[in-house]
Amino acid sequence: MMLKEYEERGDKVFLLRGIVEVRIPIKAYERLIKRKDKEYIISFGEPRKVLNHITKRELVFVTKESGIPLLGSSSFGLIDRGTNLIQVRPITGCNLRCIFCSVDEGKKSKTRATDYIVDPDYLVEVLKQVVEFKGEGVEVHIDGQGEPLLYPYMEDLLSKISKIKGVSIISMQTNGILLNESKISALEEYVTRFNLSLSSLDRDTASRLSGIKYPVERVTRNAEMIANSKADLLIAPVWVPGINDRDIEKIIEFALEINAGKRFPPLGIQKYIPYKYGRKLKKVMTFKEFYDRLRKWEEEYGVKLILKPEDFGMDKRSRIPHPIKKGEMHSGRIVANGRLFGERMVAVRDRVVTIRCDKRVGDHVKFRITADKDGIFYGEVV
Ligand code: SF4
Repeated sequence: MMLKEYEERGDKVFLLRGIVEVRIPIKAYERLIKRKDKEYIISFGEPRKVLNHITKRELVFVTKESGIPLLGSSSFGLIDRGTNLIQVRPITGCNLRCIFCSVDEGKKSKTRATDYIVDPDYLVEVLKQVVEFKGEGVEVHIDGQGEPLLYPYMEDLLSKISKIKGVSIISMQTNGILLNESKISALEEYVTRFNLSLSSLDRDTASRLSGIKYPVERVTRNAEMIANSKADLLIAPVWVPGINDRDIEKIIEFALEINAGKRFPPLGIQKYIPYKYGRKLKKVMTFKEFYDRLRKWEEEYGVKLILKPEDFGMDKRSRIPHPIKKGEMHSGRIVANGRLFGERMVAVRDRVVTIRCDKRVGDHVKFRITADKDGIFYGEVV
């Protein structure tokens, strides 16, 4: 176990694998070590906080034993949107604070209350069942509400996913900051394509966009290393009108220069869209303006920029049958706090349903399913 321990603000802090932070008041810790071996401190049930070390939010361990299903939430686990691509979300939380973030991620988020980390064996067990249902030619896309490479079990997870019969592509979303030469050489054994979010090559603009002192050189070096590795590279900038208008062309030139897109398109330019619980910016471009400009650049640079699912080998497949339906009444146990303030997660028939209430984890609630979008369920307490 990679364990660091130190004292901070009256707490004894144990940092496991760089992301799981267990905090115990120093006085409580001193009482504990008189009684037992500190290696077992996490299971003592004494006053403690388990936090995501980056965001400082409560961190919920999603294991088979926790009784938290892996289907039903958009925050963690698996999402099946009726194609041959399955989204796999092993962790929440981000090391950046982008001003355009659709999920309001990073430190000091105004909306996110809880982070999750999923046990890799549990994730693989459920993924195997989903892939078996889908058949051959499945793409496993590792993404999430945050930066997937913060997941401390990534190599183990990828190695296990690569052995699942039926998985033909493993792709991964990343902001690229945590990559380096040795990580890229370890990951290229499993990852078919990295979707790298890089929205400016100018340090000041990139810092303004990402909310941190942005290491442009490190990320562009990582991009070049990926382009020269066994894995493919797709650069996915978010075009934020009024901020990085001039940068998008430079990113197109950079992607072409380093030979991104050996098998898939080299670029996936995204339009900034304000979301209900995401970060809002004043200036928003229309879809017409966006696609007109992409068409112009396609002609100018001779590269495909308006992308379709077929460009990634995606096809429609039956969805995993849903054991619960919109309009139904159910009762279930609250298994975890929800992702947003005021939300709770309830488990019912192997699905997790997000509801709003002030009851506690462990309580039972009666609720009606009010929304089912791609197997992501919301309910209302009755
Ligand atoms: S890297 Fe992605 S998840 Fe992280 S803050 Fe930026 S947009 Fe949000």
